[in-house]
Amino acid sequence: MSHSVLFRDIAFFTSAADESGLPPSRGEVAIAGRSNAGKSSAINALAQRHRLAFVSKTPGRTQQINFFSLGAERFLVDLPGYGYAKVPLGMRNEWEQLISGYLQLRPQLRGLMVVMDIRHPMKDLDRQLLSWFESTGKPAHVLLAKADKFGRQQAVEQLRNTTKILAADFPGVSVQLFSAQSKTGIDEAEAVLNRWYAPD
Ligand code: GDP
Repeated sequence: MSHSVLFRDIAFFTSAADESGLPPSRGEVAIAGRSNAGKSSAINALAQRHRLAFVSKTPGRTQQINFFSLGAERFLVDLPGYGYAKVPLGMRNEWEQLISGYLQLRPQLRGLMVVMDIRHPMKDLDRQLLSWFESTGKPAHVLLAKADKFGRQQAVEQLRNTTKILAADFPGVSVQLFSAQSKTGIDEAEAVLNRWYAPD
């Protein structure tokens, strides 16, 4: 497979623990998901780098917003995973403030990708995230990740279900099948990203 032009020069750039840590940017796309949904694997598969996104899992960075530079002051923004049962309430509130603030108030943010495990999509916090972002009028796209966990027919069925739920609750949000393992849906996701990063 050829290297995508978009991610040719991708490199970890910085982590932000609060609004003051956000770097100057000319355009960025955020990627979010429940912990363990397959977000890091998705980023790595899209970038065709094996360990790139796992810097976001190093101690001290898991609750931060991690910026990957694409060159020309454009960024792929890895939002902290959510949905850990063990997370204390105070931390949950901090997460809410940081993420809702970032999603709603960042002018450079062009679009949001939400990674969901195909076996259990559209959980409460996924919906929370989509509803924060909905108010901006900017585009969002769902990756139904680990699609290889299902057979083809079951995967297509889940895609159809999720498409229906989105059309009812979050009209305009698109969705696709994705698998970092079997490399399903990479071109489709990349096309969405290319569209969002393209200058107006
Ligand atoms: P994150 O916490 O959302 O960043 O999730 P990770 O990318 O770390 O993946 C969580 C777990 O799911 C790991 O054990 C991965 O190996 C596994 N996983 C991720 N993507 C896929 C996939 O496409 N197919 C399968 N079968 N497993 C995957």
